[in-house]
Amino acid sequence: MTTNPPQAGVPGILPEGAGPQGLDTKFLQQLDSAHYLHPFTDHAALREHGARVIVRGDGIYLWDSEGNKIIDGMAGLWCVNAGYGRTSIADAVHAQMLQLPFYNSFFNTTNVPAVQLAALLADISPPQFQHVFYTNSGSEANDTIVRMVRRYWQLAGQPGRQAIISRRNAYHGSTMAGASLGGMAGMHAQGGLPIPGIHHIGQPSYAEGGRGMSEAEFGLEAAGWLEASILALGPENVAAFIGEPVQGAGGVIIPPSTYWPEIQRICDKYDILLVSDEVICGFGRLGTWFGCELMGFQPDLIAFAKGVTSGYVPLGGVLVGGRVAHLLTEKGGDFNHGFTYSGHPSACAAALENIRILETEQLVERVALATGPHLKACFASLVSHPLVGHAETCGLTAGLNLVRRNGETVHDCEPFASTHVVGMLCRKHMFDNGVIMRAVGDRMIVAPPLSITVGQIDEMVERIRYCLDLTLEEVTQRGWMD
Ligand SMILES: *Cc1c(COP(=O)(O)O)cnc(C)c1O
Repeated sequence: MTTNPPQAGVPGILPEGAGPQGLDTKFLQQLDSAHYLHPFTDHAALREHGARVIVRGDGIYLWDSEGNKIIDGMAGLWCVNAGYGRTSIADAVHAQMLQLPFYNSFFNTTNVPAVQLAALLADISPPQFQHVFYTNSGSEANDTIVRMVRRYWQLAGQPGRQAIISRRNAYHGSTMAGASLGGMAGMHAQGGLPIPGIHHIGQPSYAEGGRGMSEAEFGLEAAGWLEASILALGPENVAAFIGEPVQGAGGVIIPPSTYWPEIQRICDKYDILLVSDEVICGFGRLGTWFGCELMGFQPDLIAFAKGVTSGYVPLGGVLVGGRVAHLLTEKGGDFNHGFTYSGHPSACAAALENIRILETEQLVERVALATGPHLKACFASLVSHPLVGHAETCGLTAGLNLVRRNGETVHDCEPFASTHVVGMLCRKHMFDNGVIMRAVGDRMIVAPPLSITVGQIDEMVERIRYCLDLTLEEVTQRGWMD
């Protein structure tokens, strides 16, 4: 650790002592450590090793400042669906910035890309969606949803409907409302969360809660927790239920096929708004444009972000179904909500070009018909590894559990002691050997760019298998397999 932080404004690109990318990695790490507070990061731990400096991307590959080439198995943060290095997105944003970099949509004004994107989103989303409200992120989309559903019930003459039901281990963002909707205990422990009126039921994780049941039975059981919660709160007090079609940050939790249709039935029965957080599942991740289409339900509202621009420029929003849009636009008056950058023309230009790429290269269909099934077969084959308990795949996202003892079913596998942090150890081997997986406890997950080819999936899985071997060697040496 330096006691004399380098001066701000000193360029990080130095000819002398520079690595293969022409960058002085140590120097950048010192500046980073001295000035940059990272999201969701333990800075004491970060200081010890220094941050890895990512300098370039192309397709599914990243390069760090030391010249290492890495397969990005997480598409940035679940968002670079079209892959890195898309010149046409950069060109579209460049052209828009020269034409009109920014104008707001307040006070009865609009801009061309925001209008074009709204119409395109109405076209590619399920038929009940004809309207969009723009934000800059997924968190802001979910904040918007909290205000919008409560406003809806006010307009509908049932202002008592304030409660929103979500799930434990859900991720809905990091703002006050987003983190409150989310079910992450570690986030609720900081900052006085959740805000009032948010309630959580259990997650539909068969591995966690399905012992002694078939998957189909468990799906109905887990959906039943919603009905129990509605009855406990009183249906006249419940505004909405929100969930991710497949939970992402929670560890790629794929619900049984019986779950979402039963959730839909329960919401219909009690007249409760159904909200699908599609920040990860939207824009092709599951092999359909939106995850609700695969899971078989018709939400009233959809939160989106990440994949809408493949992360090239921040953009998020809420797709608003006919039921809510009708009241808001016909008898709502002012909805006193919005952001300076709602409908940002440069961000909307990025989204338009990104969606054009997904369409013309038929990447969503490719996930459904080719790359998704191939990833599934590859992950199924990893289960033969002595360290892998079970693996699940949905579209182009997958998770596998690292276990001490392999069992017949998911419920017979024996996990490692929680203090052994095998997931983090495995993640380090992966990063050091050119592939990025994310560790959620001892569950290792991937969500690569949708542009990945079948051959590149083989290359990724080959590296994953090699790193599982290295991890097995290390945990065996440490005596954790005994
Ligand atoms: C990432 C994520 C969010 C939050 O989006 P930000 O752009 O980080 O605010 C919300 N919901 C889900 C499901 C996400 O994965």
